Amino acid sequence: MTPPSFLSAAARQSDCKHSGQASRATGMVLEVGAAPGMRNMRRLPARPRRRAGSMQLSEFQNEPLTDFSATENRAAMETALEKVRAQLGREYPLLIGGQRVSTENKIRSINPAHPEQIVGVHAAADVELARRSIAAANDYFRCWSAQPVEQRARVLLETARIFRRRRHEFSAWMIYEVGKPWAEADADVAEAIDFCEFYAREALRLSGPQPLTPVPGERNELRYLPLGAGVVIPPWNFPLAIATGMTTAALVSGNTVVLKPSSDSPTIAAHLVEALLEAGCPPEAISLVTGSGSSIGDALVEHPLTRFVAFTGSKQVGLHINELAAKTQPGQRWIKRVVAEMGGKDAIVVDADCDLDKAVAGVLVSAFGYQGQKCSACSRAIVVDAVYDKFLERLVERTRQITVGPPEDPRNYMGPVINERALRSILDYIETGRREGQLLTGGRRAPGHGYFLEPTLIADVEPRARIFREEIFGPVLAVTRARDFDQALEMANDSEYGLTGAVYTRDREKLKKAAESFYVGNLYLNRKCTGALVGGHPFGGFNMSGTDSKAGGRDYLLLFMQAKVISEKIEDGG
Ligand code: NDP
Repeated sequence: MTPPSFLSAAARQSDCKHSGQASRATGMVLEVGAAPGMRNMRRLPARPRRRAGSMQLSEFQNEPLTDFSATENRAAMETALEKVRAQLGREYPLLIGGQRVSTENKIRSINPAHPEQIVGVHAAADVELARRSIAAANDYFRCWSAQPVEQRARVLLETARIFRRRRHEFSAWMIYEVGKPWAEADADVAEAIDFCEFYAREALRLSGPQPLTPVPGERNELRYLPLGAGVVIPPWNFPLAIATGMTTAALVSGNTVVLKPSSDSPTIAAHLVEALLEAGCPPEAISLVTGSGSSIGDALVEHPLTRFVAFTGSKQVGLHINELAAKTQPGQRWIKRVVAEMGGKDAIVVDADCDLDKAVAGVLVSAFGYQGQKCSACSRAIVVDAVYDKFLERLVERTRQITVGPPEDPRNYMGPVINERALRSILDYIETGRREGQLLTGGRRAPGHGYFLEPTLIADVEPRARIFREEIFGPVLAVTRARDFDQALEMANDSEYGLTGAVYTRDREKLKKAAESFYVGNLYLNRKCTGALVGGHPFGGFNMSGTDSKAGGRDYLLLFMQAKVISEKIEDGG
């Protein structure tokens, strides 16, 4: 049997420092206290080692989505929105090494649909606190990594239960903080639940015996060990799911984590951390360090005790992190591992021989779902000449029916874009698009005080155009005419990105060709290019879309582990 840890039980007991004994913070820190979540599980009891499989978990299944056409579900969401509304504007401290830490400087997260409404006021860590969080995570690593894998898996399973129990509340936080429409917020919580359930099972699987080729006269064994203290840096657009996925993958593998959430979604991250603590995660294993990426990001990434960085966000920041992490710091004893999932310029190819209505529906939902703010969003529709005009006509008609407004009202299909900077940047791209193509519909701000934009279609866009090549990250779709299917595929591949793509055609030969030559990490045939499911669609892209980590897949946890091989000679003879 593979022992789940590399330290003895005695070592575990003596090495584990608990936050009651942790040193008090000084300097910038104004108020420090033990994390309230600690009541739930502060001392990790040494459990007898058991076979990983002894947890007897059912096979992983995706969490079903909520049917909001049912009256009781709508009522439950309304109640959650009301409950969360009453909590808006609360203050949240940092959590560093098991200690709550307040700071004088704050970041304020606002509701993009009602910018005057403050969702949360968060402590803003400075460089010194950022460094302290890495040191504390490193201190606790020996303790957390020594826990039996079942213990860590239990934390994830319990977190999933908490998400289920408070599902609409988590959705409501996303509706307020990042402008997600109901169904999108609900899918985000479902994905977070899936990550917990899936990675718990994966950790158990990987803790079991691993297949090795037998060597005569030896007993050989391969164990997966965690890496150390890592930094998790998620984006705001899947503020629960992606933050949960990266954090729980790192934790369940036995690493300690410093979570630095996006400054646009710190409140959801704070609630995620509360859920982890309530589920039994020791507060020393998960630090929450809110603060601007441009001021504390480098300190977290370049710290010599940082063992890995798991990042999801823009190409620009991802490349910067990758470069900085590659530079060895004095005292550093390892090559830092970087998992970086970045942007996309995802294309849907529409062939002449396809169900045009399905293609229109697929393009529409991929382009404008959550205001086009998904890395997987369709931002290029490449349509074969024979159906180009007909496709456009139907797409324009459907696009004009899209409702835009505050997402707490479920009649609005699209909510606001995330912040004023994004609004300005998208409007600039639309101006560029007016020169580069033909604006067919949209192009302006939509009514309301929030950051609302009309869904925008720009046709006759050439592959050299900026709006064909650069990620806009908003509700703007470039439509391009292709001579035939082969040229459409070529155009789709003419991108520095390679995240998702889709093809609509009835022709099996063309589907086969797309499967072979459409160069993306996630290719969809005759369906939309968004909505990857944990387990079924491991997710990650090629080229400048990132390191192709395949989140939600069976290879993912290995990114947070290293393998040790133990070979014992058992008889003479060589
Ligand atoms: P950003 O790259 O702007 O920010 C991502 C995270 O990085 C935030 O937490 C941000 O913090 C932080 N950050 C910023 N600067 C630094 C720095 N110098 N060092 C360390 N961290 C830093 O992306 P967005 O949040 O705007 O997210 C949108 C992007 O994410 C899009 O490009 C999208 O395609 C991509 N994405 C990719 C996915 C994928 O799986 N491939 C999935 C989802 C999104 P702060 O907010 O404080 O600046």
